[in-house]
Amino acid sequence: MKHVTKKNPIENLPATSSITIRKFKSLGIDTYFDLLNYFPSRYEDYSIISKINQIQVGEIVTVIGKILEVKNQYTRSRITIQKVVITDDTGIVEINWFNQPYLIRILKVGVIISVAGLVKQFGAKIMIEPKEYEIINFDVSIHRSILKHTGRIIPVYSEKKGLSTKTIRDKIFNVLTSIETQNLASLQDPLPTKIISFNNLIAEDEAYRQIHFPDSFDLANKARKRIAFDELFNLQLANNLIKKEWQKEKVGNRFNVETQDFASLQKFISSLPFKLTGDQNKVIKEIINDLKKNTPMNRFLQGDVGSGKTIVASIACYLSFLNGYQSIIMAPTEILAQQHYQSISSLFKNNKSNLKFKIPNVKLITGSTKMTKVETQNFASLQKNQYDIIIGTHALLSKKIKFNKVGIVVIDEQHRFGVEQRALLKEKSLNPHILTMTATPIPRTVALTLYGELDLSYITEMPKGRQIIKTFLVPKEKRSKGYDWIKSQITNNRSQVFIVCPLIEESENETMKSLKAVTVEYEKLTKVFSNFKLGLIHGKLKSSEKNQIMDDFKHRKIDILVSTPVVEVGIDIPDATIMIIEGADRFGLASLHQLRGRVGRSDRQSYCFLFTENTSEKTISRLNFFCKNNLGTKLAEFDLNNRGAGNIFGTEQHGFVNLKIANLADFELISKTKKAVEYFVGHYDIKDWKGLEGRIKGYQGKRILSD
Ligand code: ADP
Ligand code: MG
Repeated sequence: MKHVTKKNPIENLPATSSITIRKFKSLGIDTYFDLLNYFPSRYEDYSIISKINQIQVGEIVTVIGKILEVKNQYTRSRITIQKVVITDDTGIVEINWFNQPYLIRILKVGVIISVAGLVKQFGAKIMIEPKEYEIINFDVSIHRSILKHTGRIIPVYSEKKGLSTKTIRDKIFNVLTSIETQNLASLQDPLPTKIISFNNLIAEDEAYRQIHFPDSFDLANKARKRIAFDELFNLQLANNLIKKEWQKEKVGNRFNVETQDFASLQKFISSLPFKLTGDQNKVIKEIINDLKKNTPMNRFLQGDVGSGKTIVASIACYLSFLNGYQSIIMAPTEILAQQHYQSISSLFKNNKSNLKFKIPNVKLITGSTKMTKVETQNFASLQKNQYDIIIGTHALLSKKIKFNKVGIVVIDEQHRFGVEQRALLKEKSLNPHILTMTATPIPRTVALTLYGELDLSYITEMPKGRQIIKTFLVPKEKRSKGYDWIKSQITNNRSQVFIVCPLIEESENETMKSLKAVTVEYEKLTKVFSNFKLGLIHGKLKSSEKNQIMDDFKHRKIDILVSTPVVEVGIDIPDATIMIIEGADRFGLASLHQLRGRVGRSDRQSYCFLFTENTSEKTISRLNFFCKNNLGTKLAEFDLNNRGAGNIFGTEQHGFVNLKIANLADFELISKTKKAVEYFVGHYDIKDWKGLEGRIKGYQGKRILSD
């Protein structure tokens, strides 16, 4: 878009109330360019402009005429009708609005209006049921290009924060025309001409015009293609450049993996109560290879729930320890940090006395950690390297903790470790190796697009002896039978049960609504399972309360734990063998899979039951697919192809993918843009492309940790 106006603050919009401006701002729209990036969700075709004597019943047309009569009519049923009669040089027609008495003040006799609507017949009378109208202060024979709401294909926007589609359309139209009248055609398109022509793209400013006010549906399509291309191109270019920058970095604390301490690592591995899987070994090799290098590792490890990522991370941390450095492990919640602390500490409890290896000191630091006076005093202990592996939440970084020689940072269940977090590390003069881990199954193509700056590792193989979790979609009429079965399982097999309440809203935060829903469900369930101990957990509890409940559950003081979906990641309760998911249709398959992964963590047979009120064929077949498939990536691919990418990431990471038009399931476009990025970095220097540089900053800036 044209340089001069794109940065114009939204406050400069002519004839716009401060209330409207505030509403735009609350949508994150601060500039003209932001506004132009608020894309329509669909279009209405009002492009047929007809003379009044030519309109046909059943047709959607735009007519333009001068108002002859205006009347407000009251009916007995309290409905008011605004009757307006207009004329052009061929005839007259009546238009009726309902319950909009204020129109009488706007639509005065003599005013010229353009109305788009459906032509209808009432008895002998032909009338127009209006969809949109606008007042035009010009001659009836004006060119249609000044029409915003009628007489063309018009954009329909999603109405948020009380902004009507009409207001949004109006403001976007003004911005586009103000850009046009400046006639700054000489300004550069952000993409090089070669890339534009090779990929058959239309110019960017044309794309912005056509995506909002298309001259045809074909052009609207071309506009979408261009903008989608740019989105994927910019995202991948941003990643590419981050990766290049990263490769110039020098690691703060160099590892020496080849020392005799390596023997200690072998002993540590031999001391484990299990044999590592092939995939675990493969990933450990990849990591060790990275750790040998002078550039910091930036690796993304993906592995299904229960695939054993923790031990892989622990081995990396152990190497760091053997090299005399500290490690930091960050989890998204305190519960998970706690769990990591417990399982990692126990990994290092050497039970095989014939194996002598160095044992690191593991420390948990959370908001609720009570530190001794000595510990608090300038954290002397940490600085003296008394603690080798420090586990906490993502808040660890922002704490005023002085770390000493950090070799590696492990981030669990966080898809983005952004530029800003890295800056935080650098502030602490650390430049460690970074290992990010997730159980979210992300199809490889998607991962390569979204995380192109990272090196990817996969664990697809599950540890031996894991049983497949038997999964069933339970029809409504079998619910109470199901409950009876669960009761017998608790009584006879000491099973523990999770019951997850439905997702109420797809929002990042747990809303009061979800809280209410879960509380109601809990009350109901306490009656159904009156002989058992139930617990309730949700995000609004204090973390000490949550810890207490999880602890009680772990120690079997609770049989059935009722929870909101927010408490979903990573909890490890080996005796929990039954997972019930209410409102299963509201979850993406990847999220369902995460939930299912809460059970099946021991060698006992585990079960997952899905409940849904939605009996549409599509839902049933989707949920049945889930019942029959246990591989996370397969489920994610299914959802990617059937429901788009939004579902893969569930609720907690919502909105971090900065793509508005492009579809991550569009593999063809992904591969096209990838090639274009390769061409770009091979032939150009980003410094000469200021427009692009500005754009990709948007992508880099969006990588923010939720914490
Ligand atoms: P996740 O990948 O979900 O973080 P964890 O690391 O928590 O999985 O591992 C899940 C469980 O599997 C743990 O109890 C862990 O001790 C166990 N485990 C990990 N690797 C193996 C293996 N190779 N063989 C058997 N059990 C394993
Ligand atoms: Mg884990």
